[in-house]
Amino acid sequence: MGKPTGFQEFNRELPAKRPPAERVKDYKEFVGMYSPEKLNQQSARCMDCGIPFCHSGCPLGNIIPEFNDAVYNKQWEEAYEILSSTNNFPEFTGRICPAPCESACVLGINKPAITIEEIEKHIIEIAYQKNLVKPMAPLIKSGKRVAVVGSGPAGLAAAAQLSKAGHEITVYERDDRPGGLLRYGIPDFKLQKDVVDRRLKVMEAEGIQFICNTEVGEDIDAQQLVEDFDAIVLAGGSTIPRDLNIPGRELKGIHFAMDFLKQQNKRVSNIAVAGEDITAKDKDVVVIGGGDTGSDCVGTSNRQGAKSILQFEFMPQPPQQRTGAMPWPSYPMLLKTTSSHEEGCTRHFGINTKEFLGDEVGNLRALKVTDVSWETDFLGRPTKFSEVEGSDREIPCQRVFLAMGFLNPQYDGMLQQLSVELDERKNVKAKEGIYSTSVDKVFACGDMRRGQSLVVWAISEGREAARKVDEFLMGHTLLESKEAVN
Ligand code: FAD
Repeated sequence: MGKPTGFQEFNRELPAKRPPAERVKDYKEFVGMYSPEKLNQQSARCMDCGIPFCHSGCPLGNIIPEFNDAVYNKQWEEAYEILSSTNNFPEFTGRICPAPCESACVLGINKPAITIEEIEKHIIEIAYQKNLVKPMAPLIKSGKRVAVVGSGPAGLAAAAQLSKAGHEITVYERDDRPGGLLRYGIPDFKLQKDVVDRRLKVMEAEGIQFICNTEVGEDIDAQQLVEDFDAIVLAGGSTIPRDLNIPGRELKGIHFAMDFLKQQNKRVSNIAVAGEDITAKDKDVVVIGGGDTGSDCVGTSNRQGAKSILQFEFMPQPPQQRTGAMPWPSYPMLLKTTSSHEEGCTRHFGINTKEFLGDEVGNLRALKVTDVSWETDFLGRPTKFSEVEGSDREIPCQRVFLAMGFLNPQYDGMLQQLSVELDERKNVKAKEGIYSTSVDKVFACGDMRRGQSLVVWAISEGREAARKVDEFLMGHTLLESKEAVN
């Protein structure tokens, strides 16, 4: 424990952010860094609890009190070693994780939790500055070859771990560059792409081969892959968006969030955008959906110069305080307002879109909406809704972004060619902790297996799946397990 009285002496402080009016002028990250003194104080707040609930709050099992102690004592190499023993990519989670570890922080019962996510970001950034992040080529090669399909956080984590175990890794990616949603979903203002590229360089130097512009199931037969490799890891994500099939859906101006976000991420990286330009400039925008994807549409619309932005959520407004339905350490996810909301946007909860209305040439001109009221159970959780009589109205708008989540992975192509079994939600069937699919030699992890989730879960699944693949190939594994760490 760095400083026994630290949690009493220092308050939780986050690094300064650039003000909203300034940051919407560009797509760069806007959260600053701590001064050395502030970083020291924030790490000193850790109480080094007898039972560190933060370990189990983190899907990766990060060993948090120990790295806080190392940061407090300015032991940067040790801090980096502890952090990287459970997390391949702290530079991603340190920027965009909703930090379930902080919700599980015991200090959070009485005082604001330790700023674990920020401390994580500082450890990895200092490690890069001090040249501690080095390619780790395995000492002994196994002679086994593994194909990883998909280069999002799950595929990257599986590839990094399997390479460390001595296997030869080829990652197939259908997009023009690796990264999955880290590159073409999450906007640069949350995660700059030079941060992704910096990590990919390390992985390439470790000997991992990336083959882009190649869709398995389309450009390469999936069965061929099974024949050519000793094992396959499917990490293709959950890519089929939920649609809103109401009258007027065919009108011009209604787009899936991902089509919009991907284009902007490409523009920021000076990559050519194919097809119709989708922009929010000078438009009245409605974002339908209240999650991360919706917030990213709000932030991007603001930066593109939208005239107005509304965000609709079908569910009721969540309580602004913890309720009995969300006791510590369960995380009141819905209370969260993202940085995009600070930049300008009006949120409407309990609203249902019933029809898209068009003009005479087929362009979207308005939405027909109605309010819904919710009944709640004894814990305050919404259970049943009904439309509010007389609340039907039109909302003028020329752009709608549909951000209502993702249903499941794409079946046509790769999964169909493999005849892989799906679960009841149409994700690839493979038990958590086991990761093998119904097809011999084929494993699955990340959103493709668990459904749409978080980057931290994708990394965790990639790491755990890698252990199972290594065991399958070698009969045993020396790769770290999060159970053993905790
Ligand atoms: P993905 O990241 O989806 O990667 C899958 C990759 O597989 C893709 O690159 C795809 O092109 C490729 N692929 C698919 N099929 C094939 C094939 N047949 N052949 C070759 N390649 C293929 N989570 C957070 O924790 N914090 C956030 O702030 C956050 N923001 C988000 C914002 C948006 C807009 C979205 C959509 C999601 C966000 N998420 C966030 C969720 C997070 O990004 C995902 O949970 C995570 O990326 C899943 O990782 P994955 O590796 O399983 O899949």
